[in-house]
Amino acid sequence: MRFVLALFLVVCAAVPSFGDPAGDVPPVAIAIHGGAGTMTRADLSPEKEREIRATLERALLAGHTRLEAGASATDAVEAAIMVLENSPLFNAGYGAVFNSEGGHELDAAIMDGRTRNAGTVAGVRHIRNPILLARRVMTDSPHVMLTGEGAEEFAVSLGFDLVDEDYFSTDFRRQQLEQVQRQQSSVNDLPPPQFRYGTVGAVALDRDGNIAAGTSTGGMTNKRFGRIGDVPIIGAGTYADNATCAVSATGHGEYFIRSVVAHDIAALMRYTDASLQAAVDEVVHEKLVEFGGRGGVIGIDGDGNIAMEHNTPGMYRGAIDTSGNLTTGVFKDD
Ligand code: ASP
Repeated sequence: MRFVLALFLVVCAAVPSFGDPAGDVPPVAIAIHGGAGTMTRADLSPEKEREIRATLERALLAGHTRLEAGASATDAVEAAIMVLENSPLFNAGYGAVFNSEGGHELDAAIMDGRTRNAGTVAGVRHIRNPILLARRVMTDSPHVMLTGEGAEEFAVSLGFDLVDEDYFSTDFRRQQLEQVQRQQSSVNDLPPPQFRYGTVGAVALDRDGNIAAGTSTGGMTNKRFGRIGDVPIIGAGTYADNATCAVSATGHGEYFIRSVVAHDIAALMRYTDASLQAAVDEVVHEKLVEFGGRGGVIGIDGDGNIAMEHNTPGMYRGAIDTSGNLTTGVFKDD
């Protein structure tokens, strides 16, 4: 009898949820986006759609596997974003859009909801995975934001390799630049809607109940040299606070900066007791629409509720919820 009891205790210790009939292992969850825009079934081939959904799935699993193993929400966000930065399908890292001079300037941000510590980089041109550098700004510097050459000098001091700017270039993005430059009379015009977005982002909840958000982008096609978007502006494109939510945005950055989108969602929750979904709906479908701001957001709260909303025809997105259900979406009616 004593042997059976001892064996039971050993098994309980080895399998954390075994001795807990309610299965009370704290839940984990993750959501990601790969940009919002005018994608419709007519202009996205089934093959491309499959490729995009498969990459979203890989990014979700990269983050979720870590969460299940007990890693932090910040680790999961970083892992998911790296998969998307390394794919040419999205406007971040490899495959980032071109600015008006035919170069690349990348922005990224990460925020830890537990400490509300944050790190961002803007206008970097030689960093393979800008999200990794944003993380190090958060953990290894007393600052929140580093830009351009200063950010790259910091990267070198940490042992990062710099890559040639051509690493980010793809024919697809070059054709987009040429097309936009033919259609726009100046960089002050908006690029046509189909060329605007493609940023990537992730939000996650870990086993300790902490949440985090991260975002990475090449910005907008044909943007003026030196332009910085909403992504690395804490509170605009990226925000996380355990007390409310973690948010990552995609869309026309200038509007997202002026509406302070990500923080506005958190503030609605904090000051009006709105749920995550209600706060996201209010900002994405009311406030931004009235103002002319096109795009979407993903958000998560401390209970693992997830909201993914966009006021554009489509948004590349995906989630693994607290029950472990994996979903991906592209179009509004997915
Ligand atoms: N928000 C990004 C920016 O304005 C663009 C995007 O979401 O694709 O830089």
